Amino acid sequence: MEAEADVMIVGAGISGLATSLGLHRLGIGSFVLESSDSLRTTGFAFTRWINAWKALNALGLADSLHQHHVTLDGNVTSSRITGLQTFEMSFKAEGKHGDHEVRCVKRNL
Ligand SMILES: Cc1cc2nc3c(=O)[nH]c(=O)nc-3n(C[C@H](O)[C@H](O)[C@H](O)COP(=O)(O)OP(=O)(O)OC[C@H]3O[C@@H](n4cnc5c(N)ncnc54)[C@H](O)[C@@H]3O)c2cc1C
Repeated sequence: MEAEADVMIVGAGISGLATSLGLHRLGIGSFVLESSDSLRTTGFAFTRWINAWKALNALGLADSLHQHHVTLDGNVTSSRITGLQTFEMSFKAEGKHGDHEVRCVKRNL
């Protein structure tokens, strides 16, 4: 197969496809290579950090995703054997690079 494109992108995951879409909006053609022959649908939710949401917003995709999102305050992990809490992480804490936020879009709403 012959194809002409300004940019070659390896991998049709969310990063590759978002990059291709962003380039397309700027009038730059790209060609996306994907080694897998089928879609993978593992995972239970769509969780991104604040910078990824900024990128999705710039692509005009964030609003539709926000309609189904819940903001996560943090993550608590417990042992199923003892019932004791083993780990806790707040997503509201101010990180090294400033405030961050995690949002989770439930699938199958
Ligand atoms: C087990 C597991 C569960 C997860 N669950 C969740 C979840 O519930 N919610 C969530 O938000 N995130 C989840 N994640 C994280 C999520 O998968 C990643 O954040 C996201 O997929 C990263 O996107 P990406 O485009 O950077 O990479 P990927 O999604 O990994 O995409 C890279 C693509 O490049 C292709 N590729 C690789 N090498 C080549 C090559 N040489 N030539 C051509 N194609 C190539 C791969 O086949 C793949 O399709 C999970 C990850 C794992 C491993």
